[in-house]
Amino acid sequence: MSLLVVGSMAFDSIKSPFGEVEKVVGGSATYFSLAASYLAQVRLVSVVGKDFPQEIIGMLSSRSIDTRGLKIADGETFRWKGYYEYDLNTAHTVATELNVFRDFAPVLPEEYRTSPYLFLGNIDPRLQMDILAQVQRPKLVALDTMNYWIENSPGPLREAIGKSDIVIFNESEIREISGEYNLVRAARKVMGWGPARVVIKRGEYGVLHLSDGTMFAAPAYPLETIFDPTGAGDSFAGGFMGYLASRDGSELSEMDYRLATMYGSAIASFAVEAFSTDRLQNLSPADIAERVDAFRALTEFQV
Ligand code: AMP
Repeated sequence: MSLLVVGSMAFDSIKSPFGEVEKVVGGSATYFSLAASYLAQVRLVSVVGKDFPQEIIGMLSSRSIDTRGLKIADGETFRWKGYYEYDLNTAHTVATELNVFRDFAPVLPEEYRTSPYLFLGNIDPRLQMDILAQVQRPKLVALDTMNYWIENSPGPLREAIGKSDIVIFNESEIREISGEYNLVRAARKVMGWGPARVVIKRGEYGVLHLSDGTMFAAPAYPLETIFDPTGAGDSFAGGFMGYLASRDGSELSEMDYRLATMYGSAIASFAVEAFSTDRLQNLSPADIAERVDAFRALTEFQV
C-alpha cells in the first residue's frame, strides 16, 4: 500500500574517522524513500534546487518511487555539513543551509491525499503540519525530527507530535525533547502527548521500541565495516514503515511492529557500509531477507 513521505533532499558534506566526502546526495526523504522502496509503493514530497543531479531523480523513479510530489525550484538544494568522531552515534552539525526549503509550500498531488501510511521525515515541523492538513486521516502517521528543529521550532514540533501515532527519535533527541534522561521515562512522557508508540534509535546499540504495556529491544547488526552512519536513522524508518505498509492494510499486531523493527534494522545496517546512498541503491530483496535471518540467529537462545 502507498506510503507518503515528506522530508529533506540534500547535499551533505561529511567527515568521519574513515574518510571525508563533499557535496554527496543525502537528506531524510532520500534515504527513507530508497529504504522503503524495497517493501512498499513510495510517494515522495520534497524540494530540490536546479543544481540537484537529474540522474538521482531518475534512479529514484527507476525504483518505482513516485516523484510527482518532488518540486524542482529556482535556487540551491538544502545543504548539511557534519562530522562524526569515534562515537559514530553522535552527528555533530557544522552548518545547515535551508536554501530552497525556506520558501517551500508543498501542494500534494490529488492522488497523494488518500495515502494510508504517512512518514513526516526530518524537516521543518511547519511543513510536517502542512502535509497533515492536506491528507485525509491516514491509517498510520509516523514522525522523525532532529535537534535543529527541537531547538528552533519547539511549538509546531510539539503540535505535529501530538497528531502522530508513532515517533521515531534517536536517544539524544528524545532526551532533549522530553527533558528526561531515562529512556523509558522519556518515552512515557512523549506518549502522554499523543503517540501510542515510541521507537528510540540508539545507533550501534540498536533500537528500543515502546508502547503502553509493551517493550521490544533489537540490537544493531555487528558490522565489520562502517563508513558513514549518516542516513542510518532514515533508512531504519524507511524499512520500518515500508514493512508496515506491505501488510496491506490488515490490522497490525505487536509482532508486525517487531518484524518492522527488524526490517528497519536490516536495511539501516546496509546504509552505513558506504558513504551517501551508494549501498542502499544496490540491494536485492534476498540481501534484506538474509540480513533479517542473520538478526534472528544473532538473538536466538533457548532455556
Ligand atoms: P540521519 O538518518 O538521522 O542520519 O539523517 C541524515 C540526513 O538528515 C542527512 O542526509 C542530512 O541531509 C539530513 N539533515 C540534517 N540536518 C537536517 C535538518 N535540520 N532538517 C532536515 N534534514 C536534515
